Amino acid sequence: MTAVQPKPTPVGETFDSLSPATDEVVGTYPVHAAEDVRAAVERARGAAQWWDGLGFAGRAERLQRWKGVLTRRLPQLCQIVREETGKPVADAQLESVLAIEHISWAAKHARKVLGRQRRSPGLLMANQAATVEYRPLGVIGVIGPWNYPVYTPLGSITYALAAGNAVVFKPSEYTPGVGKWLVDAFAEVVPEQPVLQLITGFGETGGALVGSGVDKIAFTGSTATGKKIMAAAAATLTPVVIEAGGKDPVLVDADADLEAAADATVWGAFSNSGQTCIGVERVYVHERAYDEFVAKVVERAKNVRAGSDEEAQYGPVTMPSQLGVIRRHITDALERGGRALVGGADSVDDRYAQPTVLVDVPEDAEAVREETFGPTVTIAKVRDMDEAVEKANATKYGLGSTVFSKARGVELASRLRAGMTSINAPLSFAGIASLPFGGVGDSGFGRIHGPEGLREFARSKAVARQRFTAPITLTSFTRKE
Ligand code: NAD
Repeated sequence: MTAVQPKPTPVGETFDSLSPATDEVVGTYPVHAAEDVRAAVERARGAAQWWDGLGFAGRAERLQRWKGVLTRRLPQLCQIVREETGKPVADAQLESVLAIEHISWAAKHARKVLGRQRRSPGLLMANQAATVEYRPLGVIGVIGPWNYPVYTPLGSITYALAAGNAVVFKPSEYTPGVGKWLVDAFAEVVPEQPVLQLITGFGETGGALVGSGVDKIAFTGSTATGKKIMAAAAATLTPVVIEAGGKDPVLVDADADLEAAADATVWGAFSNSGQTCIGVERVYVHERAYDEFVAKVVERAKNVRAGSDEEAQYGPVTMPSQLGVIRRHITDALERGGRALVGGADSVDDRYAQPTVLVDVPEDAEAVREETFGPTVTIAKVRDMDEAVEKANATKYGLGSTVFSKARGVELASRLRAGMTSINAPLSFAGIASLPFGGVGDSGFGRIHGPEGLREFARSKAVARQRFTAPITLTSFTRKE
């Protein structure tokens, strides 16, 4: 067993960022106090006006230049992601390239989505020209997690900036270096004003941002923290977008391509050490496909390994406290009659969690009900696909979901209570910039990405202009004859 990983802890007014693979200190950052946060928001107010004044074209040009810097320095960015999360270089590259794609999409589409749009005024007001425009909200506070420290915060930051807002960004205490790198790169292409600022620290710093009077909070992280943020934001009526946890199911029909379904399950469950909000944590398989599907998953899972060498498919568990959760969920499942066909509680040490495949786990076990956020998956046999849909929906979460069925994919997908569903392919929504991303229930609300993501950071404003005096108007009783 390896030594227990330390957690980032404040030392006076700073804290160290630590590598989860080696425990080395890879950077030291300030713990920003409430007055620092307020000052950043104050500076952002002026910057927001200046940024809005650049217009869609001016902002798009700067965003594309930022994308250029990120693309040219991709190896440097990936190195910092690796240092702070321990993920393999291919995963660091993938999330960075996907994030860059979003910058491009938002820059290109902001004018079309948010620019002035004509609306029909209707017969009663046919003498008026009606339009809707989408104005920036002002200053957006973005609070991010550590699991995809480039992709996840940029999914909000990019769209908020493209909509004309300034942003104050608090990255996770586990990945402050990645956050700083992104913000510094932006300052190179927008040196005039603090349009995107960084604040670092722990939950208290994030709490100070929530209470700072920003115009909206875009939060991505755990459901528990999302609830605290929403409660705190209520005091100032600050609107929030909550992108929280998940417990994603995969449904496998009797006629499904079982090779493809097993590939998607193994990738979805184990990649990034299972630390993915849309990671696969539960599978419901038609009884006619069950044995064959389970055998395929087991065969694949046995070839997947966590480690820090080149051959390993995924790295360490980034947050030490999560190792205990993963172990507890597996132990609870086994004590309630479940069986581990691959892995088990002993496959979790003090740094790495090897793949675990569980079967015969009762539906009320923690491994089925709660987000494990580790490389474990439960597989259950169902009589038919109605039972599969019912069980998949019997959760407080509702983020992603996947269906494998040749005949009934679209129908089953529409019955799943989730923000996103993939049919006959792994859920790779992260890569499709034009589609809204978000969940229902304990997975949160609001949408990032796509047109919906741009509008999330804007307020609609209706304007109607009189073109000629109508013979009869709604206000005619005030007229003198
Ligand atoms: P977390 O909730 O512990 O922390 C997220 C951020 O919130 C951090 O920056 C943290 O410092 C800050 N924070 C903590 N307490 C706060 C408070 N009281 N007020 C304001 N800010 C506070 O989450 P995490 O461990 O960093 O991330 C893992 C979780 O994120 C998982 O549950 C995962 O499913 C979820 N996640 C969701 C999505 C999505 O898009 N739905 C994407 C990635 C991760």
